[in-house]
Amino acid sequence: MNGRSHQAATIALAVPAGVAGYLLADCWQSGAIAAAGCLAGLWMHPDRDLPAAKVDYQIGLLGLPGAIFWAAYAWAVPHRSWFSHWPIVGTAGRLAYVLGLAWLVAWLAGVDLVVWLAAVDVAAVALFVGGLAVADAAHWVMDW
Ligand SMILES: [Zn+2]
Repeated sequence: MNGRSHQAATIALAVPAGVAGYLLADCWQSGAIAAAGCLAGLWMHPDRDLPAAKVDYQIGLLGLPGAIFWAAYAWAVPHRSWFSHWPIVGTAGRLAYVLGLAWLVAWLAGVDLVVWLAAVDVAAVALFVGGLAVADAAHWVMDW
């Protein structure tokens, strides 16, 4: 499946992900967080295991920063491997990559990321990750 199809599916799935988030917590903020998690799949999708030049869908100004940010991941992870593309595992791997780089930047800046993360609302994170997992699962199905 080409990147544009993945992108369209991710955007389309943001609506049901948002509705599911709303129904789970009975508040619009939860729906918005779940939809945002799904839309985050436009930037942190499973095909980040490809070199940037081969990713045929970039989001405007996020293209170059995204290419730089994901370069090490693309170098280390084989394309369409279980680590990047399997549902749950791929989502967790990319989240760990993002958190690892965030931790590195925070450490270089002298910020204690652990203290900051301790203040994060766990339910909101779960909704966001759930939305992202929906986008990743759709990507996996479409790649078959
Ligand atoms: Zn793929």
